[in-house]
Amino acid sequence: MFRFFIKSAIEDPQHIVITDKETVNKITKVLRFGIGDVFVILDNTGEEYEVRIQEIKNKQVLCTLVSRLNIDRELPVEINLYQSLLKKDKLEWLCQKVTEIGVKRIIPVISENCVVKELNLNKTSRYKKIIEEATIQSGGKIPPKFESVVQFENAIKNLHPRALNLICHEEEQDLLLAEVLAKNSEKIINLFIGPEGGFSQFEIDLARQNSLVLVSLGKRILRAETAAVISSGLCASI
Ligand code: SAM
Repeated sequence: MFRFFIKSAIEDPQHIVITDKETVNKITKVLRFGIGDVFVILDNTGEEYEVRIQEIKNKQVLCTLVSRLNIDRELPVEINLYQSLLKKDKLEWLCQKVTEIGVKRIIPVISENCVVKELNLNKTSRYKKIIEEATIQSGGKIPPKFESVVQFENAIKNLHPRALNLICHEEEQDLLLAEVLAKNSEKIINLFIGPEGGFSQFEIDLARQNSLVLVSLGKRILRAETAAVISSGLCASI
């Protein structure tokens, strides 16, 4: 069923008036919905309603409530993705996908091989907008927090002691992420993904000294953004 989100809270679910131009156009012109058609709308408080079109007039869609959908789509584990900064707009795509998966926090990390060494305000607000839209589109209730940039060494020294702390490393030959997750009972998973050039040997050694578990995602070398999505997805499906 088609889902739309309304940027403001729905005051009276019994009488919903959609005025957002883009949404009205999609409903009436693209999908060519008419009176009696049913779809789902979410508002920015995470409320989700199934509604029926009652009337279309003055470029507005007037709906009545069919039912309030109370579906909890949050994950049973808390996934914190520590992602090294990436070039171009890869982080945009990555933020959207891992938000759909349901990660709780995205922590941008500066590691030795990062080509990009800082995040400007525009990029950060762009990521936050993408995260918000992806949360609502995927039925999440709480958008992942996009944290401030942190240095790799600081990040690994401040991890929750009772968490499963993982670092994905393409040179790890033995331990597959899936195997570690199959035996895991921790509710918090901290997941480190490197930049295009990977983690340095110094960082891998430091990770080991701080009891992070090196894990493999298989024999193929994945792009960082692919690795982030695959690993978050595996953690989400335990
Ligand atoms: N140094 C790599 C190379 O030789 O091309 C590139 C690193 S890869 C593009 C970026 C990040 O994705 C890595 O730091 C790692 O975190 C993750 N990654 C990619 N493939 C992986 C694999 N097969 N197993 C575990 N992690 C992987």
